[in-house]
Amino acid sequence: MESIGSRLQAVKRRIEAASQAAGRGANSVTLLAVSKTFGPDAVREAHAAGQAAFGENYVQEALAKIDALADLRPQLEWHFIGPLQSNKTRPVAEAFDWVHSVDRLKIAERLAEQRPAWLPPLKLCLQVNVSGEASKSGVAPAELPALAAAVAALPAGRVRLAGLMSIPAPTDDAAAQRAAHRRLRELQQALYDQGLVLDTLSMGMSADLEAAIAEGSTLVRVGTAVFGAR
Ligand SMILES: *Cc1c(COP(=O)(O)O)cnc(C)c1O
Repeated sequence: MESIGSRLQAVKRRIEAASQAAGRGANSVTLLAVSKTFGPDAVREAHAAGQAAFGENYVQEALAKIDALADLRPQLEWHFIGPLQSNKTRPVAEAFDWVHSVDRLKIAERLAEQRPAWLPPLKLCLQVNVSGEASKSGVAPAELPALAAAVAALPAGRVRLAGLMSIPAPTDDAAAQRAAHRRLRELQQALYDQGLVLDTLSMGMSADLEAAIAEGSTLVRVGTAVFGAR
């Protein structure tokens, strides 16, 4: 079986090629390695191969992993990317650096209240449902401006609204992939036009990272292509 290190290199080459094709700089896209369902040893192996940012979906699984990797904590960046219930916000606010899946104000308010004062602000992305009914999570595009304004207005210091995130309905059709990713970029632009500057577009996974980068993704969340099938 191929090693995690060589898979990582292959993903980085894909990111580089897609960035170049889009006329974007070599370092304009961050790779988030999605380690859900894989154990601490897989994360250690990826870290030894140069990877620092890891994404997790399930609170209990993630906390155990972060704990098992406490010796590496200063060198790692942990991103929570899964559905988040309001009764699970506290451990997420305490253990993570980013949350990508904020889709209602109550979650952002709780994260802001519960983020320990001694840690840097928790970076937040608003998850947007760009594919309509195909996906149940995420704020509807029409409701995004109000949510973004409310989250951006939370007391500074504990959280910082950094960007937008999407999980489009899966499709093999490259044009449809591009259209879904374009939608998120257009929503980012519309917020910018209203005076809200968000620098992160969290979009693109193993199967569609090229389309996402072509449409302006700044962070791709890649699981299968790095760690193997789940
Ligand atoms: C699992 C997951 C990914 C990674 O998906 P792959 O297809 O394995 O690359 C990315 N984003 C989210 C939100 C996920 O849940």
